Amino acid sequence: MSQITKFILLLLVLTGMVSCQSQPVIKPQTEMEKLEQQFFNDLWNLSPTWAASLGKKEFEGKLRIPDAQSIQDEKAFIGKYMGLFAKINVAGLSESELVDYKLIKNYLESTIWQIDVFKAYQWNPSTYNVGEAFAPIVESKYADEESRHKNLLSLLEKTPAYYAAAFEQLNTPTKEHLHLAIEQNQGTIRYLQNSVKPLLHKSSDQKFQSIYDGAETAIKNYVAKLQDLKAILSKSNGFRSFRIGSKLYKEKFALNLQINATPEEMYTFAKKEKIKTLQEMTKYAKILWSKYFPKTPFLKNNKQAIKKLLYKISEHHADPSTFIEKVREQLPQLRAFVKEKNLLDLDPTKVLTVRETPAYQQGFSTASVDAPGPFDPDRPTYYNVTPLDKMSKERAKSFLREYNNYTMQILNIHEGIPGHYVQLVYSMKSPSLVKKIFGNGTMIEGWAVYSERMMLENGYGNNSPELWLMYYKWYLRVVCNTILDYELHNKNLSQKNALKLLMDDAFQEKTEAEMKWERATYSQVQLASYFSGFSQIYQFRENLKKAQGEKFNLKEFNEHFLSYGSAPIRDIIDLMMVKKK
Ligand code: ZN
Repeated sequence: MSQITKFILLLLVLTGMVSCQSQPVIKPQTEMEKLEQQFFNDLWNLSPTWAASLGKKEFEGKLRIPDAQSIQDEKAFIGKYMGLFAKINVAGLSESELVDYKLIKNYLESTIWQIDVFKAYQWNPSTYNVGEAFAPIVESKYADEESRHKNLLSLLEKTPAYYAAAFEQLNTPTKEHLHLAIEQNQGTIRYLQNSVKPLLHKSSDQKFQSIYDGAETAIKNYVAKLQDLKAILSKSNGFRSFRIGSKLYKEKFALNLQINATPEEMYTFAKKEKIKTLQEMTKYAKILWSKYFPKTPFLKNNKQAIKKLLYKISEHHADPSTFIEKVREQLPQLRAFVKEKNLLDLDPTKVLTVRETPAYQQGFSTASVDAPGPFDPDRPTYYNVTPLDKMSKERAKSFLREYNNYTMQILNIHEGIPGHYVQLVYSMKSPSLVKKIFGNGTMIEGWAVYSERMMLENGYGNNSPELWLMYYKWYLRVVCNTILDYELHNKNLSQKNALKLLMDDAFQEKTEAEMKWERATYSQVQLASYFSGFSQIYQFRENLKKAQGEKFNLKEFNEHFLSYGSAPIRDIIDLMMVKKK
């Protein structure tokens, strides 16, 4: 997995955790299981930061230097396992094993594509960031401070070589990724100062000061070199474009989303859904109008009427100092509703901890769930929320209007209950390690978006028209993310027209729209995964409902769907249909 994919996955939630039930009978390993084990052993040696982030403690303190040799090693690894997996007798695999097989094959194909075709390691300097290597050590519980100290020092010692090799790899970066890399690595400096350094002070080893200083200087140098490069390229306008073009977009879409639809099909569908969603919003606006504007007749222009109403309703919001607290307060209410309506079973022993997004991860999304890896199921699941205290007053106000008291509930459903956090708890219980490690982002995001609709359909919020109207605004955002992403990379969409799409057609606040534009220039196809995932899950459920009639049971559907870990949606559908036969 490339660094950038890893980075995005880390931010957007990751794979689940491990089921640690001991197995009373040890059955002989199948050929597939043996090969999987060998594959993972080699993979972890090649990607120690990833291994440590999944909870493999023995890899904490190891850091891969991203030089030319490391790329050759990765290519050799891929070549070796493409050959070995090709020898597996696919006909002899169980349905679930077959999905695992396909996931590993997809991983190998994606990685070689990243190295030989996409080459983000050359043009995306934010690929390089040691923050994620430190995080597992800072966050895990250590029995003795000395081991933690040893691992931290080991990483700090390798940091200068890491950044020297990183800079060597760069070749015509994009302006946008230079900007992101500067911001994020500055965040990493703060992270070292605030979270790593205090842990060293407790130690008896006095060598740490010079090693620590060397690491901090290395990151500062990297940032300074990026700033210089940005200035030089600005003069000659020599940046690479952040737009990847139709060919790469199509290839990345197929490798990442793993759904039975092309980018064009999802784009066309999203455009239709945009019109339909506007009709739904008009319906709710008409219901609400007289309550908020008793003296004014409904405006002739539907969009303007919706906009006016949304503006009015958005006034109900938290303030910057209470935002995180409000998020925290709401989770028990969501839990109670899911239980009351019998939507799915929740595990009361798994805790969700709300916190400010750590500095080295800030700048990509508003909120995210950071789950423990399969090898460290006891680490808490974090609900990261962007802190508002560093924003300007105006920007914070705009942010809070967007995440008002209504949309905040949808956000909490999406990130928390029964969205990402619940999906990950189920994923933890699924027996397949492969499906946990190669979690499919489209399934993960699709489920979270599906869970919003499912909660409201079951009467969450007492069917309040305000909540429905805000929900559809939120949903419209998901729909427009697909349109934005597609048009940005395939149709040369300008910033001006992108902001017009987000603000005029999707009723977003200016801050939200500007942040989305920024994010859209950093990533490719990821923004399309939400709507693609949602629509595939929703259509499947509706078809099943029709086919089963009275027999359809929502709780059964939800739990069955979640039981296969974070596998691609098309594979989950296949597996569910096999069970039904
Ligand atoms: Zn999400």
